Amino acid sequence: MSKNPPEVKYFEPPVYIAEADIKARVRELAQKINAEYGMQEITAICTLKGGIVFFTDLLRHLKMPVVCEFLGVSSYGNHTESTGEVKVTLDLNEPLIGRHVLVVEDIVDTGLTLSYLQDYLKMKKPASVKTAALLFKPEALKTPDLKIDYIGFEIPNRFVVGYGLDYAEKFRGLPYIGTLE
Ligand code: 5GP
Repeated sequence: MSKNPPEVKYFEPPVYIAEADIKARVRELAQKINAEYGMQEITAICTLKGGIVFFTDLLRHLKMPVVCEFLGVSSYGNHTESTGEVKVTLDLNEPLIGRHVLVVEDIVDTGLTLSYLQDYLKMKKPASVKTAALLFKPEALKTPDLKIDYIGFEIPNRFVVGYGLDYAEKFRGLPYIGTLE
C-alpha cells in the first residue's frame, strides 16, 4: 500500500439539521420517554435500516431495562417516493405478548409504513405500542389517524439523508441530516 493514498472527495449534502441539534433533541425525547415509562421494562424496536442511528443514540439515554429488537421493513417505490406497499424483510426474534413496545422510526412521510407496522405489531398482542419518530413531514401525511407519540423534528416535504437515512444506500453515516434538493 502506498504511504499516501489518493484523497477521495465525497459529496457532502448541505446541512439541514445540525449534529448538535439532533443530539439535544434526542436527549429531550429520551427524557420524555423516561418520564412516561419510569423503570417499566420495554421492548424497543429498531426499524431497519433507516432507524439504526436514531435507535442507538436514543437507547443510550434510556434509563429503564430495554429489550432491543430489530424489524426490517422496506416500502416499495423508487429512491425518493414510497408507494405504501410494505414488506417485512427481517422479522422480530421475541414474542411481544404483554410487552410495552416502543417503535423507533427514522422518518414518517406518507405514514403508510408506520401505519402498516402499528397494525402488524398490534396483532402480536403487546400491552402497549408507542412510536418515536425522529422526523415527521406533516405535509406528506396520507394517514391522518396515525399516532406518533414522540416526534423529533417536523420538516417540510423534502428529501433528506444522513443520520441513518439513505439515498440509494448512501449517506447513512452522515452525523447530521442533510438535504439533496
Ligand atoms: P412513509 O411514506 O411510509 O411514511 O415512509 C416510508 C419510508 O420512506 C421511510 O421509512 C423512509 O425509509 C423513506 N423516506 C421517506 N421520506 C424520506 C426522506 O426524506 N429521506 C429518506 N432517505 N427516506 C425517506
